[in-house]
Amino acid sequence: SSWPRTAGLEYTELQEILQSTPDATKAREWSQYYTSGPHLAGKNLSQAIWTKEKWQEFGIENTLIVDYDIYVNYPIGHRLALLEKSKGSEKEGPAEKDEDEWKVKYEASLEEDVLDEDHTSGLDSRIPTFHGYSASGNVTAPYVFVNYGTYQDYDDLLAANVSLSGKIALAKYGFVFRGLKVKRAQELGMVGVVMYSDPGDDGELTEANGHAKYPDGPARQASSVQRGSCQFLSFAPGDPTTPGYPSKPGAPRLPVDHAIPHIPSIPISYQDALPLLKALNGHGPKASSFDDLWQTGGLSYKGVEYNIGPSPDHLALNLVNEQEYITTPMWNVIGVINGSIADEVVVLGNHRDAWIAGGAGDPNSGSAALNEVIRSFGLALDAGWKPLRTIVFASWDGEEYGLLGSTEWVEEYLPWLSASTIAYLNVDVGSVGPVFSPSSAPLLEKALIDTIKQVQSPNQTIPGQTVYDVWDKQIATMGSGSDFTAFQDFAGIPSLDMGFGFGNDTAVYHYHSNYDSFDWMQRFGDPGFEYHVTIAKIWALLAASLVETPVVPLSATAYGKGLETYVQSVKEAAKSANLSGIKSLFKPLDNAVESFQVASATHDAVAAALLQKLRDDDIPWWKWWEKVRLFYEIRKVNTKYKLLERQFLYKPGLDGRSWFKHVVFAPGKWTGYAGATFPGLVEAIGDGDFKATIRWLEIVSRIVERAAGSLEE
Ligand code: GLU
Ligand code: CA
Ligand code: ZN
Ligand code: ZN
Repeated sequence: SSWPRTAGLEYTELQEILQSTPDATKAREWSQYYTSGPHLAGKNLSQAIWTKEKWQEFGIENTLIVDYDIYVNYPIGHRLALLEKSKGSEKEGPAEKDEDEWKVKYEASLEEDVLDEDHTSGLDSRIPTFHGYSASGNVTAPYVFVNYGTYQDYDDLLAANVSLSGKIALAKYGFVFRGLKVKRAQELGMVGVVMYSDPGDDGELTEANGHAKYPDGPARQASSVQRGSCQFLSFAPGDPTTPGYPSKPGAPRLPVDHAIPHIPSIPISYQDALPLLKALNGHGPKASSFDDLWQTGGLSYKGVEYNIGPSPDHLALNLVNEQEYITTPMWNVIGVINGSIADEVVVLGNHRDAWIAGGAGDPNSGSAALNEVIRSFGLALDAGWKPLRTIVFASWDGEEYGLLGSTEWVEEYLPWLSASTIAYLNVDVGSVGPVFSPSSAPLLEKALIDTIKQVQSPNQTIPGQTVYDVWDKQIATMGSGSDFTAFQDFAGIPSLDMGFGFGNDTAVYHYHSNYDSFDWMQRFGDPGFEYHVTIAKIWALLAASLVETPVVPLSATAYGKGLETYVQSVKEAAKSANLSGIKSLFKPLDNAVESFQVASATHDAVAAALLQKLRDDDIPWWKWWEKVRLFYEIRKVNTKYKLLERQFLYKPGLDGRSWFKHVVFAPGKWTGYAGATFPGLVEAIGDGDFKATIRWLEIVSRIVERAAGSLEE
């Protein structure tokens, strides 16, 4: 049958429009527009206006720009030099200044090469290499290779008696959010951090494996630099001066010391890192003498032996970072299609700001897809579609510095969002390779899977294969690193994040570098723009199913299953922490999860039965009261679905990071990107804090029990 019936359009007709509208030529055109010049956070007003006008042209009249005044930094200057003490300097006598003893052995370029084949790499207006929210400073000190600069890496160094205090850290990018590398270095008394992109983390298509470098081949361009934010993420996203409330003009501002670094940091290329790494050869232990996680350096073919250091007495690094801090406007573009039901809302978002002139992958593959989604919905409206629920589209500014635009917006509209929102669907990097990589709240997993079963994969080995067919069936838990964070962790709105990522054997993605450009995308990332089209179709169809299915298609059962798995991993953590009496300790939580599972199975079954009844459509017209009753029951079930994720919020928030209100999901305290489940509890156990463990067990048991109750009443 043609169910669900969509006012003005059959549902199948709506789906047909959403499947057939997204177009590669158009996606390419939007990509080319967004990536044609710098559009750094707070410096992209013309792109905000263009986006607003496009969406209006596509038929979303109700589109406006929402701005905030946000505290950020812009780069002024930088320097990185390897200094060497000249031999005869001592005889110059005491009158000679200290720095005169040192001469420059290597001056880092800190610039990415201008390539003829990459037209935005040579713009005069291109953005310098720097870190968001980094501290200004000028330090000269010995340096130490700290591997990825994870909490564990620093611990390994301390255990090996490598002295860190007073030194500069030379860290590889990877594994954890970069701001946390700086945070830990600062806590350990280090005076600066230099981060570089080691090709050992680039998968198989490296120069060491015989592949040509970009632009000639898929390997990493040697001068490419990963910019990026160094805020402390796990404290709170958004404007660091206004945690928990919107950065409107006149809003009170808090100090930022606990939220951003006070030691300077800069990002560099592997080309600039090479002389620094080589100068450590023979000094201190070898990385290979540590455990597995220290074995991945990819510059051995260039003569790097990966010694840890510290650098010998006759060498030092001079690190200069000069940043300007200002409070400046940022612009979200918000478009609304009103549905018949005003207080059931689905939000779709992507950020628009990029670190660089390009940003073809991050974020504008998502921006191009969002435009195609909106164009598709616009055509459906033209064809007479009257949506059941309300859809909100968002083009965020300031994501790169710390999820600024999305967080401030959620903080501002929290009461309305809490009362109305059913789901938030995020696409950041929409396509930089062929690997479908979702992370999702359990409530949305089923709707996502049902959707990708309807969409053809661009890389079929057998004709007709869908995205689902070629997918590795992995769904990550919600961590952080993109604009879903305030929705999921602060507002308790079930969220997901998806896109087509790179694989181990696909072209190296030059993340946050000048070479994340339109030319790279055309040559390597998505030459036919087919993945742009595919992510647009998935996004639109998923939104349509959430907006049009009369009974909200969330799966409470999946949440129950998730909770059970997360409790398992808490128990593992407790076991390794040697918590005595584990069994009785976990009884209340086990019971709560069990009640939740029973309640959620019942709720999903009731929902399915109501949907079936609606589908059967066999209530005679004269039994109108039965029909009224059916709609009333559906509304009740939908409201419970809508508010279910909210049940998991805990007002006081997590210990030491009270902005994070969700007791089941948070970014890992020392990973940032990767999600932690039952974070409050797991951290208490990890800290060996028995009192806090008991307190958190009590909190989460009560909250899971309450969530179960919300489905029953
Ligand atoms: N997505 C950006 C990054 O990974 C920003 C993440 C954040 O600051 O939370 O650098
Ligand atoms: Ca704020
Ligand atoms: Zn992004
Ligand atoms: Zn980014």
